[in-house]
Amino acid sequence: MTENQNIKSFTNRGKVVSNKKMTFLEKIYFPAILHGLYITFSHFFKKKVTVQYPEVKKPIPEVYRGKHVLKRDDEGKERCTACGLCALACPAEAITMIAAERKADEMHLYREEKYARVYEINMLRCIFCGMCEEACPKEAIFLTNEIISADYQRNDFIFGKDRLLEPLDKRTDISMRQTKEVLEFKKDKNQTHNN
Ligand code: SF4
Ligand code: SF4
Repeated sequence: MTENQNIKSFTNRGKVVSNKKMTFLEKIYFPAILHGLYITFSHFFKKKVTVQYPEVKKPIPEVYRGKHVLKRDDEGKERCTACGLCALACPAEAITMIAAERKADEMHLYREEKYARVYEINMLRCIFCGMCEEACPKEAIFLTNEIISADYQRNDFIFGKDRLLEPLDKRTDISMRQTKEVLEFKKDKNQTHNN
C-alpha cells in the first residue's frame, strides 16, 4: 500500500498530486512566463470592470440600505416619538436617544407628545440591516440609498438629528421601501397614522 492510499479522504474531491519529473522547458519556466504575459496583455483589450470612483459612480438600487432618514409627516412634524423600539431592535447597539415632552407651543414641530430631543446613530457600528426601520411603529425611520462618505475622525460618524432629520424643503421618497399592502393602506387618509 502506497503512502497516498493511506491518507483517508473526507470528500470525493481529493486529488493526488503527481511528482513527475519536470521537462527541460518546464525547468526554465519559459512557457509559464509567456503564458503569464499572454494573460496580462489579453486584459488590455477586455472591457474594464473597474470604476473610477469617486468621479464615476455606479448606479445604486433604490432599495439599497444606506444612510438613515428621520421622516416628517405631511405637515412637516417629526414623526419619531422616542419610543426606543429601534434602539432595542438594533443588533449593533448603534442608536441612542434622549426623549423630551412636547410643549404647548411645539405642536407644529412634533407629531406626538413625546419626541426625540437627541437622536444619534453611530455609523461605525451600524451594519445597515434595516431592523430599526422594521421595528418603528411610527414610520419615522427609513434607510435611504445614500452612501455614508468616508471621514477622518471617529466622532464624525456619529450622526445626530442635524444629519438624519428630513429637510422640510427636500423630502425623501421612501415608497420603494414599503410593501404594496402598506402603500395601499397609506391611501386611506381617514387613518390619522397616514397624515
Ligand atoms: S440599520 Fe441595523 S445596525 Fe444600523 S442602526 Fe438600524 S438596526 Fe442598527
Ligand atoms: S424612530 Fe421609530 S422606533 Fe425609533 S424611537 Fe422613533 S418612533 Fe420609536
